[in-house]
Amino acid sequence: MTDLLDLHKYFIGQHLNEGGVVADFTMGNGNDTLFLSRMAGESGRVYAFDIQEAALVATRERLERENAPKNYTLIHDSHHRLLEYIHEPINAGMFNLGYLPGSGKKELTTKHETTLAAIEAAVSILAPDGIILIAVYPGHEEGAVEGRMIGELLSTFDRRKFSCARFNLMNSPTSPYFYLIEKSAKKANN
Ligand code: SAM
Repeated sequence: MTDLLDLHKYFIGQHLNEGGVVADFTMGNGNDTLFLSRMAGESGRVYAFDIQEAALVATRERLERENAPKNYTLIHDSHHRLLEYIHEPINAGMFNLGYLPGSGKKELTTKHETTLAAIEAAVSILAPDGIILIAVYPGHEEGAVEGRMIGELLSTFDRRKFSCARFNLMNSPTSPYFYLIEKSAKKANN
């Protein structure tokens, strides 16, 4: 059966080449940062954010252990402040919402106020033909609210500039799902 996370990677691969600039807006244990680092390669750049020091420690260890290209900057701050750290267009960005798996700190989950601000900031620096993926976990209360509000926000985006979609399992309403934002490749639409 189709794994939604594999689909995630397929879409990123359609928009990201070696040398690309990417952002992991929810670093966690670094699985997505590692994936993005390898996709962007030695000549690319990866910005990764998390509010928990433990996430930076785990991710740094993971990247070093896996010999990831040295193309990453790990940032200990909330993703809604991303414009203070990223001063160039990004080709791809990933949000994997929720809390740090295995930490037991469920209260340190992403929250809709900062998530929505971060998505708007990320979209403002998205390069032509760029992509943003947002994985939502509606099985917990904040995740359900966050997911609904993101859907409302993306529904307002100008269709001539962005294609916004949602991928979910219709027969499993509490399973994770993801949103996709693709920006038109036409430079005139910046
Ligand atoms: N991408 C991760 C991986 O590959 O392991 C999983 C991410 S985990 C589901 C969500 C992460 O978002 C947690 O580590 C949590 O600390 C982080 N987070 C929560 N609020 C945040 C915020 N405002 N800015 C950045 N990261 C945040």
